[in-house]
Amino acid sequence: MTSGRTLMLIDGLDTEAVDGDWLPVYAPATGELLAEVPRGGRADIAAATGAALAAFDGWRRTSPAARGRLLTQIGDGLRAVKEEIAVELARETGNAIRLQSRPEVQSAIDLLHYFGGTATELKGETVPLGAGLLNFTTREPFGVVGAMTPWNAPVQLSVVKVAAALATGNTVVIKVSEEAPLAVLAVARIFNRHLPPGVLNVVTGLGDEAGAALLAEPRIAKLSFTGSTAIGRMVMASAADRVVPVSLELGGKSPSIVFPDADTDATADGVIASMRFPRQGQSCTAGSRLFVHESIYDSFLARVTAKAALLVVGDPLDEKTDIGSIINARQFARVDRYVRGAIELGAEALTGGSRWPGSDQGFFYTPTVLTGVDPGWAAAREEIFGPVQVAIPWHTEDEVVALANDSPYGLAGYVWSHDIDAALRTAARIDAGWVQVNRGLGQLPGLSYGGIKASGIGQEFSIEGALDAFTHRKTTTVAFRA
Ligand code: NAD
Repeated sequence: MTSGRTLMLIDGLDTEAVDGDWLPVYAPATGELLAEVPRGGRADIAAATGAALAAFDGWRRTSPAARGRLLTQIGDGLRAVKEEIAVELARETGNAIRLQSRPEVQSAIDLLHYFGGTATELKGETVPLGAGLLNFTTREPFGVVGAMTPWNAPVQLSVVKVAAALATGNTVVIKVSEEAPLAVLAVARIFNRHLPPGVLNVVTGLGDEAGAALLAEPRIAKLSFTGSTAIGRMVMASAADRVVPVSLELGGKSPSIVFPDADTDATADGVIASMRFPRQGQSCTAGSRLFVHESIYDSFLARVTAKAALLVVGDPLDEKTDIGSIINARQFARVDRYVRGAIELGAEALTGGSRWPGSDQGFFYTPTVLTGVDPGWAAAREEIFGPVQVAIPWHTEDEVVALANDSPYGLAGYVWSHDIDAALRTAARIDAGWVQVNRGLGQLPGLSYGGIKASGIGQEFSIEGALDAFTHRKTTTVAFRA
């Protein structure tokens, strides 16, 4: 367990903020002060960027195979302390260790091994331009990548960016979320044991201080952001000001469409997993708009609510717990506001709808399924980022596709049917970056993941996504005597 002060990592060294200020990190489930981290600002971002820039030339000249080997070794190093990191992560995020934190660390290990193994896939092309001309392309790193990540799955979402950026020859300054920086800092120390100083720099601090400084830092060559759509817009505006490329993984309000043949327990389990109830619904890919065919609406919702009601809410570190604590008081109040607002307009909570009974501390919310919701209401349109699913009946495929696509977001989608024609037809018509048929689980290394519309730009989790996000295609044209 962490206690006292945990330093950030700049140029291979444990570092305090230049200003000497600190930020507290609390355990959401208990309110306990876990540690203080440096309150980084402009000077710290400048120091981290200078270190990353100094390390860039050596790192880009390191062979892709050698870079890949180092990432694989970092993955092995993380695997050796997996349980320790999972406990730290569960404590600071409030996420249940069995269903969320331990699998999240495993995902980070898998990502390091995946990018370690694919780092050599930086292939270019040759283009025939006629006799006497050799024209070829190479994939070049941008330089220093400025990354920013949120608190909901901080280790996985930080590692996916860092591993992809490093595999492709960039160096990194990452500003991690002030809500949950400790496990990422612990993972960064494993990186640091294997990498030259300055290749990875981790700055802690507030969004409008360290985050804003990162956006304004002129030596950052590429911005890569995961977080809310509101802040994503600011990131894009900063990128536009400086004309640097930007990748954005933003919010979602993803549809989950259940066909008449899918009135089964297996689908109900899948719908609960896709809603990410075991992460308190704090997931960008949550299938939070549940469209159920009218012919099975009551029976299927009975299955879902019966299963949701069995989920155990409580201490994130208890192996029996399915659902932990919401991250903080502000987010808890926001979730409850959406639920109260919908109920005042006439919605009914089939299950949940309030604080978990008997929890006088922490931010424990009962998994909630709302019915009687108009698709135009805020609860059905806006990202709640909490354990709240709205259920809406549908009649025809055309109608449900229109409802599904009537959203500013386009991150994920779920289709539940074993009628292969209906399932594939519907999957093809959903406007989203990632559609799953009869599966409600998270990303796997190798699949390209990312949103469209207000859910973002670019893709992660695959080497193709990494090449698009973290390299540019450079053309070299050579004339020779043919
Ligand atoms: P957030 O946008 O508030 O914060 C994300 C990061 O940006 C944090 O590091 C934060 O400190 C920083 N930041 C905040 N204000 C800033 C500012 N003014 N200038 C610069 N940086 C600033 O998001 P959050 O609350 O941490 O996370 C929840 C959001 O993230 C949800 O909207 C969720 O959908 C989204 N998310 C998206 C994905 C995805 O892959 N698409 C994954 C996880 C979370």
